[in-house]
Amino acid sequence: MTDPLRDDGGDEALRRVYEAAGPYLSSLPGRPVHDPDSVALLGELWQPAGGAPLPGRGEGAAAALERLLRVGTAAATHSAGPRFFHFIIGGATPPALAGDWTAALLDQNAAFRASSRLATETETVALTWLRELFGLPATFGGALVASATFANVTGLAAATHWWGERHGVDVAADGLTGLPRMPVLSGGYVHASDRKALQLLGHGRNAVEVHARDAAGRVDLAALDRRLAELASPAVLIGSAGEVDTGDFDPLADLADLAERHGAWLHVDGAFGLFAALSPRTAGLVAGIERADSIAGDGHKWLNVPYESGFAFLRDPSRLPVAFGMPGAAYLPGRGSALPTPGEGADYALLGPESSRRARSLPIWATLAAYGRDGYRAMVERHLDLAQRLARRVDASPELQRLAEVPLCIVCFRARPDGVPEESLDELNRRLGAALLADGRVYAGTTVHRGRVALRPAIVNWRTTEADVDLLVEVVRELTAKVVAELG
Ligand SMILES: *Cc1c(COP(=O)(O)O)cnc(C)c1O
Repeated sequence: MTDPLRDDGGDEALRRVYEAAGPYLSSLPGRPVHDPDSVALLGELWQPAGGAPLPGRGEGAAAALERLLRVGTAAATHSAGPRFFHFIIGGATPPALAGDWTAALLDQNAAFRASSRLATETETVALTWLRELFGLPATFGGALVASATFANVTGLAAATHWWGERHGVDVAADGLTGLPRMPVLSGGYVHASDRKALQLLGHGRNAVEVHARDAAGRVDLAALDRRLAELASPAVLIGSAGEVDTGDFDPLADLADLAERHGAWLHVDGAFGLFAALSPRTAGLVAGIERADSIAGDGHKWLNVPYESGFAFLRDPSRLPVAFGMPGAAYLPGRGSALPTPGEGADYALLGPESSRRARSLPIWATLAAYGRDGYRAMVERHLDLAQRLARRVDASPELQRLAEVPLCIVCFRARPDGVPEESLDELNRRLGAALLADGRVYAGTTVHRGRVALRPAIVNWRTTEADVDLLVEVVRELTAKVVAELG
């Protein structure tokens, strides 16, 4: 079987995916996050013989999908389930997953109005709903991008072009040649992906000047103020709406004041923290974000839609086609009319880093249509409650020590059992982190917070319940005892 036109197993392949979905999804709450034994199955991806070259004669759609599903449903990291507290990633809601299937079914290219009015119109609706979800003013506009990393690239690219203009240079046309290094200032919460964005944009990751007032990385506003005054030239400020070890926030309104006073561009990385806006309990954390010039957010975290889903908002969206237009290709639309116009769609390929792109708006549209503002607020508030519950459980466990306040959905703590000297605690907690992943019942990752190795479980998955959080604490305590015994 070598020609798709002659393969009659296509329907069967699709049916197999559909039939696997129900049992797989309903198994998530009851299964370990990862089964280490399943790794052996990965060899089957190389069949017929281990390391064999691409087969000349294909096995057909039905058989290929049978194998992919058999290996996949067993060997996947079941991170869509309720006990995956590692990183900060959610799991697709049912309508988000179904919306994603629909995006694959319709196979749209969301690049231009001319490639798919359906996809570009749905993207405009999805972006408008997201903007409203976060309470951003109507002047904000943007694009869906692959991730928060790409959203940071988008915001910082727009900042770069703005900054080039201040120096009389069209960076889109002429690059950075002849310009000084772009000053980029932040507190210590700045995320690695903001540095990666600067690295991609030709500024270099070392462009970031960090002004922190303590070992946790809290921003030193007075130092920023002094430095901006000293620079006396346009600069870019990066604010963090949600730091990844503790969920703390930079004081965004103060950063907006500084940006205004010194004529700087304010970019805010709100990958997951933007969702603080959904609850009156946490909305204060993002106060001032509406004064940012650019904002980066993630969908595949707290929105619980499939990867790859990020979004970038600009206060002045007309800066996007300046940075991302592709003039000179006669067969493509020009950037002049790229922005959304009511009832006429938009050319999103000219508003963000990608050209051809899948219709990632469909899962966002579907989950927001299904649950609305109230549904998402309820989920976020449940997670806030679960984080407080986790913090209380940690505080009540004599061998655990919480290392930070819990303003949002992350609890930063470490094991500190009696009788283990301080200088051994980093090693103990590193082993504890590795033991958690090897055990697989719950997943959480380690970090280094204020110089101490710590766990930092994050709660953003719609499936997570009190029982899952309680099990996390139980497993951590059990494995702490085991690691202590091993360390002797
Ligand atoms: C997760 C995260 C990112 C990067 O997101 P990706 O989607 O993995 O690219 C950036 N900034 C913050 C604050 C994050 O939490």
